[in-house]
Amino acid sequence: MVHNFNAGPSILPKEVFEQASEAVLNYQNSGLSILEIGHRTSTFQAVMDEARALVKELMQLDADREVLFLHGGASTQFMQVPMNLLDDKETAAYSDTGVWGIKAIKEAKLFGKVEVVCTGKESNYTIIPKDFAVPNDAKYFHITTNNTIYGSQWQKIPKTSIPLIGDMSSDIFSRVIDFNAFDLIYAGAQKNMGPAGVNLLVVNPAILGKVKRAIPSIMDYRNHIKEGSMFNTPPVFAVFVCMLTLRWLKALGGVPAIEKLNDAKATLLYHEIDNNPLFTGTVAKEDRSKMNACFVMNNPSLEETFLNFTKQKNIVGIKGHRLVGGFRASLYNALPISSVEILVQAMKEFTLLHA
Ligand SMILES: *Cc1c(COP(=O)(O)O)cnc(C)c1O
Repeated sequence: MVHNFNAGPSILPKEVFEQASEAVLNYQNSGLSILEIGHRTSTFQAVMDEARALVKELMQLDADREVLFLHGGASTQFMQVPMNLLDDKETAAYSDTGVWGIKAIKEAKLFGKVEVVCTGKESNYTIIPKDFAVPNDAKYFHITTNNTIYGSQWQKIPKTSIPLIGDMSSDIFSRVIDFNAFDLIYAGAQKNMGPAGVNLLVVNPAILGKVKRAIPSIMDYRNHIKEGSMFNTPPVFAVFVCMLTLRWLKALGGVPAIEKLNDAKATLLYHEIDNNPLFTGTVAKEDRSKMNACFVMNNPSLEETFLNFTKQKNIVGIKGHRLVGGFRASLYNALPISSVEILVQAMKEFTLLHA
């Protein structure tokens, strides 16, 4: 068995892969593949309906929230959000908590003014900023709820009087939060939900239709809402696999149940990082991500040796992002705690050999 700590695309439940492979060969004994049926058929409509309904149920969304599955990755939303919400004389507030936030800021500047109300830059993004004010006259406030690269996470969602927007690409469905506190949530699927190529979008339609610019049809959220997320051919296979993952999550007990498992995994790994003399966590304890644990070795010349040591134990995907170095273990929903136990065991064994 391979222990898959990849940051994205990343681990999904094995049973989802099994069901998805069957569906590619012969979907529901129709003699047809899920890949070769029309998206307007009742067969695919049922997939889209169930996927959207599961999102509403698992996130306990208010009745007015709309759920869409859109083409493109989260990076598309860096542009599509301001295109739909920000006019060129208006200001949007953004938080800068690392690479993804910075990229979102860059795109928003193409459409209007951006006020960066807080940044973790001085600490090299090892903290989530705490004391800052969001201007009441900004159109919206954007946060990256989990910083996949630096391994930090907003543990408390900030309260705002203006619409709150969250890039939840790497912690969607991983923990209990009030999803209705957000007026718009987006997440690329490939970290915690499904294959790359589709975005989940949850939007409060009351915030739409206020900008003066003409929005290309395919970019206008209202068109996708009107057409029930079938404005054009959706990424059918990616939506199908998301639906299977959401079914799996529901059967497991939903978000509260997975949160418990995720807490246990993160506690186990961070406990070892904090107590092992060879390793140090890179992020302030209270801001650590439960999805992406980043850590380095106190003696960096041992890092290569440790990486090879873990490879022999079938541990894959723990090499850190080049901006942080060291290691990053991604602990997404589908990763079993047994894989974390193997990693922790490897850290202990390595320490006996090298401390
Ligand atoms: C991975 C990631 C993205 C980018 O996703 P793409 O699908 O590659 O566009 C954006 N934001 C966060 C938080 C991510 O983890």
